[in-house]
Amino acid sequence: MGKSSKDKRDAYYRLAKEQGWRARSAFKLLQLDEEFDLFKDVTRVVDLCAAPGSWSQVLSRVLIKGEKFGRRAWEDENAKSWQLLRGVFGTGVKQGDIQERELEAEQKLEPRKDVKIVAIDLQPMSPLAGIITLKADITHPATVPLLLRALDPTYDPSSKSQHASHPVDLVLSDGAPDVTGLHDLDIYVQSQLLFAALNLTLCVLRPGGKFVAKIFRGRNVDLLYSQLSIFFEQVMVAKPRSSRASSVEAFIVCLNFQPPEGFKASLEEPMGIGNRLEKMVAAKAERHPIVAPITLQAAANGTWSAAPAKPLVKGNDGVVELSLPEEESDAWKSGRWIAPFMACGDLSGFDADASYHLPKDRITLDPVQPPTAPPYKRALEMRKAAGGAYGKTSLA
Ligand code: SAM
Repeated sequence: MGKSSKDKRDAYYRLAKEQGWRARSAFKLLQLDEEFDLFKDVTRVVDLCAAPGSWSQVLSRVLIKGEKFGRRAWEDENAKSWQLLRGVFGTGVKQGDIQERELEAEQKLEPRKDVKIVAIDLQPMSPLAGIITLKADITHPATVPLLLRALDPTYDPSSKSQHASHPVDLVLSDGAPDVTGLHDLDIYVQSQLLFAALNLTLCVLRPGGKFVAKIFRGRNVDLLYSQLSIFFEQVMVAKPRSSRASSVEAFIVCLNFQPPEGFKASLEEPMGIGNRLEKMVAAKAERHPIVAPITLQAAANGTWSAAPAKPLVKGNDGVVELSLPEEESDAWKSGRWIAPFMACGDLSGFDADASYHLPKDRITLDPVQPPTAPPYKRALEMRKAAGGAYGKTSLA
């Protein structure tokens, strides 16, 4: 698919270029924030798997510059930047217009004090003002001291401490492996990235803090929800409008970090390996026995009463009965849990799965930040050296 047809088929792709975002993912974070107020009381953030950096751009613009986006800016009549999220898609906007609009948006800004943002990715990332960027693998134990050092320059790696002395308020992880198309394998690799993100989070998050991570909703995702609910008071799954409905992608939003009493994160015994988590889920179920699902009965007079769970039966004598299907009660018994699902983002906004007509005079904009070291770079160089796609030298 060429750049031009992608413009038509993906409104957020075009909108991102119009508004100066490095990737369309920026809209996902903005829509998640609109729903969950993620940036409230937040000054210290870790952005995992951050390249090319559109989430870090959002953090920089909201926290460092104090810009407002979406509904929040709409409610604040002094802020002009609301249009940056709603966009002017399809009006033939040029790069220069974007800068003008950015300048306009820079009125009445309320930057936060002492903001610290650390971004990590396997890939190199072009610098962003005010953001510390690290090129590292989040699944590697050596990344923990690197991160602790970035968060606190006085951190002494020889102390072997795995905990931040000044913990952070929010950890984000938009990590995704190179998708193979083998569904189960992709979901497995994605879950390993998520566990790596969780392990880092447990080392650096302050009690009460928030954790947001990309997930692929696979067969065993309910197990993951129950495991996360050991550490967080609220665990929800969210699907921003800018994330294609056709994709299994969603975001797990975990609020109010409350590590169990006596819990110490340790990379010698990381979560997701062995059965430490399973044991913790079982221990939690023992402390707070999981209530067996109940059947609700609505009598003809409009009153409701609870009855023990039983397979779904049809109501009779004016009594309507609702009960959880058997598989669901099995799921409860095995320590699984179904997290609330929330769709977020303005419903009148663009549909990520739709194609849009564009005016004839519109132009195709270049990406805001072309990849610094794309995996296909060497292949392109070799093709060029060979005199084009049909040159004499083969790529082998
Ligand atoms: N949030 C980013 C943004 O807004 O620009 C987009 C992130 S992109 C969807 C996924 C990123 O995960 C890629 O840049 C990839 O390099 C990174 N990634 C995958 N595995 C990783 C790992 N083990 N450690 C660090 N980064 C990783």
